Amino acid sequence: MDRKLMEEMLTRMKLHLLKGEDIGNLKVGALFALGEQLSAIFYYVGHELGSKIEIENGPITEIGQIIAKFIEITQQYHLGEIIIDEQDNGHITFHLADCNSCKDLPVATPSDNSFCSFEAGVFAGIVERMSNKRCFAQELECRLQGRASHCQFMIVIPTD
Ligand SMILES: [Zn+2]
Repeated sequence: MDRKLMEEMLTRMKLHLLKGEDIGNLKVGALFALGEQLSAIFYYVGHELGSKIEIENGPITEIGQIIAKFIEITQQYHLGEIIIDEQDNGHITFHLADCNSCKDLPVATPSDNSFCSFEAGVFAGIVERMSNKRCFAQELECRLQGRASHCQFMIVIPTD
């Protein structure tokens, strides 16, 4: 367990409850502090959710069209603001401002663990549904790791 992160979450939960504020994301942060295996569960749930988002006129195969539609959907569902870093036929790398999972959480301890595997799963599910190909997404850098101001993700799209 990441004891330092857990203490930080508990302290903030106490303050939020006193002020009558929501503690949903802090509870998730406390779960995260408990252990690594949760990121796989969050990814799975996110992937299931992303797969439920219907895409009109699919499947889309051209990468430019995939990215345009992907940005449109992330705006529609308030998943954060996408800033594309790199793209080719097999992958999209981007920064995410205002990431839903971590926007309310403080950078407690610089760490190597990424936090937003739920988003990674959602993004993989959306692009999978769109392209009709089995995609994979990963958070490369998380704002909570303390080195960057935004989370960064990569989506891999099989090109076969
Ligand atoms: Zn993150």
